[in-house]
Parts: sequence; C-alpha cells; structure tokens
Amino acid sequence: MLIWGFKTLFKVLSEGVFHCPRCGVDRAYRLRLARRWFTLFFIPVFPYRTDGNHVECQTCKGTFYESVLQRPTSGQLSQDLANGMRLLALDVLRASGTPSTAARTAAVKAVVEAGLPDYSMAALDAELAAAPVPSGSVLVPLGQQLEAQGREWLLTRGVRIAAADGGIGSAEREVLDRCGAFLQMTVAHVAGVVDTVQRNAAQA
Ligand SMILES: [Zn+2]
Repeated sequence: MLIWGFKTLFKVLSEGVFHCPRCGVDRAYRLRLARRWFTLFFIPVFPYRTDGNHVECQTCKGTFYESVLQRPTSGQLSQDLANGMRLLALDVLRASGTPSTAARTAAVKAVVEAGLPDYSMAALDAELAAAPVPSGSVLVPLGQQLEAQGREWLLTRGVRIAAADGGIGSAEREVLDRCGAFLQMTVAHVAGVVDTVQRNAAQA
C-alpha cells in the first residue's frame, strides 16, 4: 500500500536584521520559502507548490510578509539621522565662511545629540577641510522617513549652528532653506523655525 501526502518544508533564503513589528525593536530574521512537497512513505519526493516567502522573527517567531524587510531598521534610522545632522551642520558651517568656535561647538553638540556620541571638534574640522559630501543624498530620504516634528528637530539644530556666532547671514539662510527643502519642509515652515530660534536667542 502506498502512503502518500503533502508536507510543507521551509528553505532559508536569507538571514539578517529587521525591525520586527511585533517585538517593536530590531531583531534577527529568517526569510523562508515555504514549499509543499509531495511525499511518499513520509519522504519528500518533489516540491509541489510554492506557498511564497515569509519573514520569521527569530525572537517572537512571528511571521510577516516579505515587504516588512523594506522598512528601515531602528539602527538604519538612527544612522541616517546622525548622518543627516552631520551633513546639515557641515553645510551651515561652510556657508558662514570661516566658522567661529561657537558655531563649531554648536555643530559638534548637534551631531552628538543626533546619535554620534564620539563626534569631536577634531573630526568636524577634518570634515570641513575635506571635499563636501552632497547633503541631499542623505537628507532627501531622511525627510521621507521623518514626521514633521523630526524634520523640525533637525532644522532647529541647523539654525542654532547658524545663529551661534551672532546673526544668520544670507548665505547661511540659503543653506537652511535648501536643507529644509531636502527635508520636504515648506518655505513657511523653515521661516517659522528660524524665527523661533532667533526669538529664543533674543530672550536668552
Ligand atoms: Zn519579533
């Protein structure tokens, strides 16, 4: 007597780190291909049908559609944020010609707060001396990921750097407008952030 049936077997296609929607933090995952195998005497003979790929969290064992891998991990987000702040700060400093110590100090503080704890004045000065990296390449995708509050948070720090040596010059203002546009902020929103920082500075 023949004993035949079907059995679903999983093949691991890839592994990596993703943001698990159930755990709420970055976790290791396995991308698995589920295939139904035809079995004879409980032994798989050939794959009969593909049930598709799915992603399994290695911690909670939750399974998700493959599209979940397209969402950035928290690690990627924080790296993007720190890089965005760094490039925005460098753009603002370059616009002020020879940046003052106060402006450079504000820039280092902003980058440290944005997630690069080891960033230093020496690192900043080395970057200022090197060829500029186009900030749009980081700020545009970052702007797409951030809500309005996050964009405002970034630009506020850029404005503080520009204002650190007194006023905001026209070249600095141009850079702030450009970076705001990269972050998908309207001209009015940028103007509002600049006004708020200047008003707070006047009160301090
Ligand atoms: Zn999980």
